Amino acid sequence: MRYSRKYYCVVCGREIDREEFDDHDGLCWECWDNQLTRESDSVFEELI
Ligand SMILES: [Zn+2]
Repeated sequence: MRYSRKYYCVVCGREIDREEFDDHDGLCWECWDNQLTRESDSVFEELI
């Protein structure tokens, strides 16, 4: 019997599955994507 546990995005609180939680450090893919975008933005700012 499979034990299903619920995981929630630490940023927006949306329900995500365990794989998503593990792969994205507790973030849903949208927040993960936002974070990557923000990180690459700050890299560009530093270069300028
Ligand atoms: Zn989220």
